[in-house]
Amino acid sequence: MTTQPPLVGLAAALASQPPTRTVFAQFSLVEKVAFVTGGGRGIGLEVAAAFAEAGAIVYCLGPSKQPHNDFVTVQEFVARMPPLAENVKNGKMEYISGDVTDQKQMWKIAEDIVAREGRLDICFANAGILAGADCLEYSAEDFTKIINVNVNGVLYTAQAAGRQMEKLGIPGSIILNASMAGSICIRNQKWVAYTTSKSAIIQMARSMACELGSKGIRVNSVSPGYIYTKMTKAFLDSHPDLMEEWCLQNPLGRLGRTDESRGVCLWLASDASTFCTGSDIIVDGGHRAW
Ligand code: NDP
Repeated sequence: MTTQPPLVGLAAALASQPPTRTVFAQFSLVEKVAFVTGGGRGIGLEVAAAFAEAGAIVYCLGPSKQPHNDFVTVQEFVARMPPLAENVKNGKMEYISGDVTDQKQMWKIAEDIVAREGRLDICFANAGILAGADCLEYSAEDFTKIINVNVNGVLYTAQAAGRQMEKLGIPGSIILNASMAGSICIRNQKWVAYTTSKSAIIQMARSMACELGSKGIRVNSVSPGYIYTKMTKAFLDSHPDLMEEWCLQNPLGRLGRTDESRGVCLWLASDASTFCTGSDIIVDGGHRAW
């Protein structure tokens, strides 16, 4: 028997229910289980912590055997959070070592999460790498390396989660981390492999959304603009004038912070976005408005 969701908004008011605040509860991830790749640092770690803060048990995957120090610090920070509410279990973060380019391993990891937690509701396929080379000289090996992590790895992650959601009949949410570089080119950068990979992610989300909609599984992509992380810092450190140039490329006049991915990913992961699928959500400081 399926339980009906509680009435909210107009429906609650018009059914003469006692007035209660439901809008924040729609963003709650209490009793949900999430899987985040590239969750050991940067945007992935930030979003994983937000999911845990909202009540989810979050499994964060990274390629190293042991998590980065940042992960351990954030994991402990989340563990010390005050209780969400009486008799409500707080969220938490766990680290898993794995490589997104290994399809069998990714499928097994999602199976193991379900064996442990009994469910999997949310997937943030976020792991990605960045490198550049002249488009006429890009070696097959370097091009394949980017595509393998940024495209194949995202597919294997989404498959791993989607297979479990389908098996358990969970109307889950799969979020693929693309980039504004999936729809536009980054001025003066030789990023043909990266832009190609991110463009594929946007179309992958649409395509999977169309196939999985009838099962109630939603798939969307997020397209951040320039966010200050280790990935972008590597470029900025080696090109000192680039920071100002990049800041001037959007109306807000600055790079984004990782915490500015929290809201959009929580919205997509939660019941606040139940009618959103097959969309690419742009969070770029207005970069493309110019
Ligand atoms: P980071 O380099 O900080 O994080 C990337 C994460 O992916 C790291 O934790 C890395 O692990 C992990 N990773 C890399 N390869 C693998 C692999 N084969 N298997 C498992 N994990 C892997 O980058 P960001 O946080 O900046 O980027 C995260 C995502 O956001 C990427 O997909 C990126 O393309 C996208 N993005 C970033 C933007 C930005 O401006 N920063 C803008 C738009 C999109 P490890 O730390 O051990 O290397």
